[in-house]
Amino acid sequence: MSFIKTLGICPSCKVGNIEIRKKEIRGKKVELYACSNANWYTEDDGEVFELTKDSTCSFRLWQNTFSRYGYWLKHKDVRSLLNEEDTIVELSSKKVFYENNKSVFKKIKYKKYIALDYEYGASILFDIDCKED
Ligand SMILES: [Zn+2]
Repeated sequence: MSFIKTLGICPSCKVGNIEIRKKEIRGKKVELYACSNANWYTEDDGEVFELTKDSTCSFRLWQNTFSRYGYWLKHKDVRSLLNEEDTIVELSSKKVFYENNKSVFKKIKYKKYIALDYEYGASILFDIDCKED
C-alpha cells in the first residue's frame, strides 16, 4: 500500500496537494515539494527538470532552495508557508573581515522571513528585518 504524505494545498492551482518526492541531483538526494498536478522529470541527472505534458500546474519548491545560505528547508517550513504563516529561517553567509591586514572570511548567522514564490518556490525577504530572539 502506498501512502503519499502531503504538506498542504497547492498555492498555485488550489486543488493539488503538495507532495514530498525524493529526487537526485548530480548524485545527491534532495526532496522536491511539488503539486500533485505537476510532474517533473529529468533526463540529465538533475541538471534540468521539465514538466510532463499532462501536468496542469507547475508549482514546486526544492528542499535545497536556500542551500547557498546554509539552510535546507524542513517540512514544518513548507507547511508554514502553505498555511500563509510567518516563516523564519536561520541563514548563514560568509562575510569578509580585515584582521592584521589580512582578509578573513567568517560565517555570520542571521534570521530572515521567507515567502512563497511562484517562480522559485520560495524566496528570502531580505528587506524585512527579523526580530532577534
Ligand atoms: Zn498546483
